[in-house]
Amino acid sequence: MEGTALHTSRRTVKNISMPPIIHWFRRDLRLGDNQALAAAAHAAGGAVIPLFILDDTLLRGRFASPARTDLLLASLRALDSELRNQGSQLIVRRGRPGEELRTLIAQSGATAVYWNRDYTPYAIARDSQIKAELRAAGLEVRSFKDAVIFELDEILTQAGQPYTVFTPYARRWRQRLAEIGSFPVATPSLSPLGDWPASLPLPTLAELGLPSHGVPLPPAGELAALQRLRAFINDTGLSRYAAQRDLMGVEGTSRLSPYLRLGMLGVRTVLRSALDQLEALSSPASPAAESIDRWISELIWRDFYTQILYHFPHVLRGAFRPEFDTLAWENDPGLFQAWQEGRTGYPIVDAAMRQLRQEGWMHNRARMIVASFLTKDLLVDWRWGERHFMQLLIDGDPASNNGGWQWAAGTGTDAQPYFRIFNPTSQGEKFDPTGSYVRRYLPELARVPDRFIHTPHLMPAADQVRAALRIGQDYPPPLVDHKQQRERALALYGAAKKGR
Ligand code: FAD
Repeated sequence: MEGTALHTSRRTVKNISMPPIIHWFRRDLRLGDNQALAAAAHAAGGAVIPLFILDDTLLRGRFASPARTDLLLASLRALDSELRNQGSQLIVRRGRPGEELRTLIAQSGATAVYWNRDYTPYAIARDSQIKAELRAAGLEVRSFKDAVIFELDEILTQAGQPYTVFTPYARRWRQRLAEIGSFPVATPSLSPLGDWPASLPLPTLAELGLPSHGVPLPPAGELAALQRLRAFINDTGLSRYAAQRDLMGVEGTSRLSPYLRLGMLGVRTVLRSALDQLEALSSPASPAAESIDRWISELIWRDFYTQILYHFPHVLRGAFRPEFDTLAWENDPGLFQAWQEGRTGYPIVDAAMRQLRQEGWMHNRARMIVASFLTKDLLVDWRWGERHFMQLLIDGDPASNNGGWQWAAGTGTDAQPYFRIFNPTSQGEKFDPTGSYVRRYLPELARVPDRFIHTPHLMPAADQVRAALRIGQDYPPPLVDHKQQRERALALYGAAKKGR
């Protein structure tokens, strides 16, 4: 069933008399470093029909996101233009994937369908059903590993079980890396087909039934993604990553997540760049080496959460540790709304939630802080936050998002123990010491002196006048008392753990 990586070079000889192979694009919206596409081009002598199916089940499901869908549409436009540079084009269809595939097979005379695997329960059920149906109809169907470095059962414990703790998983992942051959695969060249099956024009968000959004999207497409990768590596972002990655006011991370999410960038390309940088260093013990190693760890987290979702699909509905499914969340809708709107009176939380609304993206440290705050200070079910993130994040990924939420809520695999609770004020003081992040997203706090930037409610009246900020009018006092809520959270979690 599984395809292997093919190292195709740019093919110059094209055989357009061979029956075409459909490459079904899903979350791999690029031509380079694309395992299934390279294999399809190799097997069909370039005669590949590039297909994308707009599936309303995903576009309008519980995690539907106007901004992410808009980025998807922009990526599809960029992909089509890349394909047209090769004399090819993207065929867009809308409907139920199985039906759309059968129609296209009948229209095109394709004898095979290739795709790259996805690991959500929905994708797995959809793909196995389609695979069985098409094979029964005599078609060749092949699926490939592409979205991650390791998948399925490639990284297991000695007892043959999936890892549920990150550190030993990462150790094994690094050992296995030495065993894989050269990567990534090159960009294949595709033949112009004689007759192109009809394609729908790409719809607008409104035509897809989604509302507009005010998020300025990053430039879409494979070229833009590669540019972002190069910029991060060349302009010292990577070599300073370890020191800067937690500082919220600094552009210290790559911001590649939306590109990786939609597959505008292949993860092997990212890993290859990091390994090449590591090899080029003269000293393996330098801060730059530590930074690169740390960055690779983040790619391992991505694989780790993908395999958790694959092996433990129940996490998309409830806690990884079922004892926490009985947690008596308070779920106050007013508090949840204040959190969503960035009106909690805790500047670091509010700045982060406004960054999410404005940019469709949030700094990783900020994600951890607001997720801890929602669950442990506001006592709201982590699934409410998970869904809100999925609706707004342009990098919203079911596996990483779920993993991040369950980690912060203390209900997950490698979770921080539930009794370790982030203090939003000291997190702000530590990771945004000058308040530059807070001031960027909370302009009403622009003139608050540094010493009060994370506790503006403590400002004496005279300072409030000087800072042009009236607590209670221009900015709220803290909605809840952290110390008190911490005790309440500990009691709730403790009771759930004891099965009460
Ligand atoms: P960099 O620091 O440059 O890291 C490089 C890449 O590694 C990222 O692009 C991402 O693909 C991967 N990565 C980094 N950190 C993590 C991590 N902790 N877990 C998994 N992969 C990681 N990431 C998503 O891609 N989609 C999500 O929906 C998502 N939701 C999250 C929710 C919560 C509550 C938390 C705590 C984390 C979440 N993350 C998610 C992980 C992380 O916050 C983002 O991947 C990261 O902020 C993206 O920024 P970057 O590209 O600059 O990352």
